[in-house]
Amino acid sequence: MLNKKYLEEWDKEYFWHPFTQMKVYREEENIIVERGEGVYVYDIYGRKYLDGVASLWCNVHGHNHPKLNKALEEQIRRIAHFTTLGASNVPAVVFAKNIVDITPPKLKKVFYSEDGAEAMEIAIKIAYHYWHNKGEKRKTKFVTLSEAYHGDTIGSVSVGGINIFHEKYKPLLFDVYKMPSPYLEAVKKVGREKALEYDTTKLLIDQVEDFIFKNHQEIAGFVLEAGVQGAAGILPFPKGYLKEIRRICDEYNILMIVDEVATGFGRSGYMFACEKEGIEPDIMALGKGITGGYLPLAATLVTDDIFEAFLGEFGEAKHFYHGHTYTGNPLACSVALANLEVFEEEQTLKKLQPKIKLLEERLDEFWELKHVGDVRQYGFMAGIELVKDRHKNQPFPYGERTGFKVAKMMIEKGVWVRPLGDVMVVMPPLVITEDQLNYLLDVMFDSIKALEG
Ligand code: PMP
Repeated sequence: MLNKKYLEEWDKEYFWHPFTQMKVYREEENIIVERGEGVYVYDIYGRKYLDGVASLWCNVHGHNHPKLNKALEEQIRRIAHFTTLGASNVPAVVFAKNIVDITPPKLKKVFYSEDGAEAMEIAIKIAYHYWHNKGEKRKTKFVTLSEAYHGDTIGSVSVGGINIFHEKYKPLLFDVYKMPSPYLEAVKKVGREKALEYDTTKLLIDQVEDFIFKNHQEIAGFVLEAGVQGAAGILPFPKGYLKEIRRICDEYNILMIVDEVATGFGRSGYMFACEKEGIEPDIMALGKGITGGYLPLAATLVTDDIFEAFLGEFGEAKHFYHGHTYTGNPLACSVALANLEVFEEEQTLKKLQPKIKLLEERLDEFWELKHVGDVRQYGFMAGIELVKDRHKNQPFPYGERTGFKVAKMMIEKGVWVRPLGDVMVVMPPLVITEDQLNYLLDVMFDSIKALEG
C-alpha cells in the first residue's frame, strides 16, 4: 500500500467528495477505507468500524462476501464489458429474466443503467415518450411530492423536493406539480404519534385527487418513493397512501412511477416495498442494493404496454433514444445475480424479521432522550430526529451540524454513520447480527445523550 501520509494528502488535494463541504473536510481527519469484512470496514491504519449505514444504504450481505466475490472473479475471466447497444451479454440477459420474475407481475421489461438517479431519469423520459408515442401529446407534466428525493441529475432533481439540495438549480429544472409530503401533512393534521395510522382517504388524498381531477389531461406520471421518503429523513407514508395513489392513477390514466432505489432488495422487510404496500407500479426504479452494494447498477422496469408503445419500423423513430456506455455491464449483472442467490441461500429476508422487531423495540428507548424530536422506522431503516427543544418543536440551527457531531462521536467509538442533516440514520447491512445491531444502537443512544452535556 502507498504511504499513508501521501494517501491522506492526495485525498485532500485531488479528490472532490460528493455531498461534502470540502473546506471542512480538508480541515479534518477523515477515514480512508482499505478493506471490509461482513458489517465491518477497516481504514488504512487498521482501525475497525461497524458500517451503520450500509455504505450509503446499498450493502446487503456484508462486505467481501465470498459468493459475490466468486461471481465477479468468474465473470472477469470471461469479459469485463461489452456494449449492449444493439448487442447483449450473458449476465445481463439472465438477470433481466430473474428480476422480472421477482418484481410485481405487471413489470415485464428491464432498462439498465448505473445509478439510482439515472434509473429515475430514464423512468421520466420513458413516461413522457410513452404518451408521445401514443399520440397523447398533452401529457407532459409530472406530479411529485415535496421532500422527495430521486437523485442528483437535472431530471431527477426536477422531480425532487428537498429545498436545501434542489433550490439552487431551479432555473435549470423543468416544472412539476408538487403535492405535500404525506408524513409531514399527516403530522400537521393529527400529530406525530398518530401520523402513520392516519386514514389517508380523508383530506390527504382528497387534496391530491382534486388536483388530478382538474389537471389529468396534461399529467404523464405520478412520481414517488416506495413507502418512505428516505433522504428527507425517513418519512414513512401513512397507511394506505400508495394504494390510494394507485387508484387515482388508474382512474385518471396516469403512469405511476415508483422509486424503489432505497427500499428495494429487502430494506423494507420485503424484497420490494411495493409488495409490502400491495401495489403494482407502471414503472419502477431499482438501484443501490441491486448488486448487494458491490458495483454501480440500476434498472428501470416497465409494463408490456409501455414497452410496446416504443415498437415500430425503424423509420418511424419511435424507439427510446437513451443509453450509456456501461449499460448492462456484465460484471455488475453477474454480481446482481449472485446477490439474488445469496438472498435464497442465506434466507436473508426470513432472518431479517426479528431484527426489524428488535430495531422497533430499541428505538422506543430513544424517546427518553431530551434532544430526540421524532423516531421513525420503515422496515430495516430508521431515522432519529434531533431537535434543540422537543416541546417547542425547535430544531438545532443548521450551521451547528448537530447530526454530524453525534456521528463524529459514534465514529470515534467505531461505528460509521452518516446523518441526514440532524436526522441520525440507522441502516446497516441486512446481514448484521442482533448483537451488532444492539451495539450500534447503544453507541448511538450514548452519543445523542452526550449532547445533553
Ligand atoms: N432514489 C432514492 C429513493 C434514493 O434514496 C436515492 C439515493 N439515496 C436515489 C434515488 C439516487 O440514487 P443514486 O445515488 O444511486 O443516484
